[in-house]
Amino acid sequence: MEKIVIIGTGCAGLTAAIYAARGGLAPLVLEGRQPGGQLSTTTLVENFPGFPEGIDGPELIMQMKAQAEKFGARFDYAEVTGFEPQKGSVTLELDGERRLHTRALIIASGASARWLGLPREKELIGHGLTSCATCDGAFYRNVPVAVVGGGDSACEEATFLTRFASKVYLIHRREKLRASPIMAERALANSKIEPIWNVAVAEYLTDAEGEMRGVRLTDTFTGKDRGELAVKCVFVAIGHEPNTRPFLGKLATDADGYLLKTHGATATAIPGVFAAGDVSDRVYRQAVTAAGDGCAAALDAERYLSEFDFEEEAHHLPPAAAAEKAQALVESIST
Ligand code: NAP
Repeated sequence: MEKIVIIGTGCAGLTAAIYAARGGLAPLVLEGRQPGGQLSTTTLVENFPGFPEGIDGPELIMQMKAQAEKFGARFDYAEVTGFEPQKGSVTLELDGERRLHTRALIIASGASARWLGLPREKELIGHGLTSCATCDGAFYRNVPVAVVGGGDSACEEATFLTRFASKVYLIHRREKLRASPIMAERALANSKIEPIWNVAVAEYLTDAEGEMRGVRLTDTFTGKDRGELAVKCVFVAIGHEPNTRPFLGKLATDADGYLLKTHGATATAIPGVFAAGDVSDRVYRQAVTAAGDGCAAALDAERYLSEFDFEEEAHHLPPAAAAEKAQALVESIST
């Protein structure tokens, strides 16, 4: 039985790991399909306090992981495929086969890129369709590419891609960017970036080898065809979805699947289960807020573990009374 397991190695998970490890809990941290979370696919992070010149996302993540390891955090590569809460513990199913039991759990599984939902989308990933400019941008030197979206991610990706591509089309469904003014201004001032307003991608176009050769655009106002745009790669940057699949139906979420916390702290409605970072934050979604959330979750979990007498509960209290006591403790953490 583990004392504490942390799901996720983005900013939230790694900060939780640093705090839990420094608290002597030797947390086991599970790295899923995207180790490092969203920062691992970002370029320069300019708004994380303490780095006036900015820091590369992957570098920041590496430093956080080293810091957690230094204090005794352990890491394992595993995808959480099942979640079963019991009285005083949680059982996780990993990779569809092995099981892991823990007293406390911090869910910091983050969020994953959203896609447009067009036909053949999955099969085109890696053949001229991607959601990660940092990973794939360098493959598209001196050719035109397109970025879909109008937020900070789209502007950041478009600006980054100008290092390689001959031209970057910024395809947005409205005529105003959602991005923060500084990111929007930087993108629009770049002579290699050409915005195309009020359009949606209606279809991905491929060549005989099945590689991306362009997109067909539709006008979002009139619904009329706006013709073909020849590009070698499409970078989709339209936001993210929380990674909550194993918990659906077992933990409360909002309509878009973000985990709901109770009592204003990081506790979920299940005693011993805490949530931190983008998996439960649809509002701020910043590296620094995720880190703060991870810290709070580790402190909440630490207090839960030190105050909940697992041995006594297992031997003396009937299940309903034990659950009630655990719930009261969760509520007291936030007051
Ligand atoms: P976002 O802010 O939610 O923006 C998503 C964009 O995609 C919006 O412009 C949206 O259009 C568009 N969109 C959504 N669904 C679409 C669809 N089905 N078809 C076409 N377009 C669609 O997401 P984000 O840009 O990934 O940013 C997420 C958070 O991370 C934000 O808080 C952002 O500030 C932060 N972030 C920060 C940095 C940085 O500081 N370095 C970098 C990246 C992200 P509408 O505008 O019409 O809704």
